Amino acid sequence: MTKETFSPEETLELGEALGRAAKPGEVYVLIGDLGVGKTVFTQGIARGLDIKEPISSPTFTIVQVYEEGRMPFYHFDVYRIGDVEEMEEIGYEDYFYGEGLSLVEWGDLIQEILPESRKEITIEKDLEKGFDYRKITVREVT
Ligand code: ADP
Ligand code: MG
Repeated sequence: MTKETFSPEETLELGEALGRAAKPGEVYVLIGDLGVGKTVFTQGIARGLDIKEPISSPTFTIVQVYEEGRMPFYHFDVYRIGDVEEMEEIGYEDYFYGEGLSLVEWGDLIQEILPESRKEITIEKDLEKGFDYRKITVREVT
């Protein structure tokens, strides 16, 4: 599925729709450059899971856990990760193969430990179409 958005609100709404449809144990991987809208999209996902707490990027912790929604939400941002060993240290398998929804910003940086079955969401800009334009592609990988 590919969708074009023209404002942060639209990206948030798309995330919300996906969050509403999310099932326990799923892993979503967000791919796209810095400032493209991964965290905005994630805020939508959280809203779709009925999480009221504000979501920001867990830059210093790798993972931020939210328990108040429809299911646990594990928000990873692996932008600053040096090595996948850091994922092992935090016990990522308990999250990826657990009963919550895992979402990984910059997931392409930890390709080798991603579960075989996952959703890949790619966000791209196209400045010719405007500063706030984003193309969002959702792909089921198995
Ligand atoms: P990332 O997490 O990918 O580094 P953020 O979500 O933190 O990026 O930031 C995206 C920025 O782009 C925000 O300042 C947001 O307001 C802006 N923006 C402009 N247009 C859009 C759009 N269509 N979708 C998402 N964000 C947008
Ligand atoms: Mg981010």
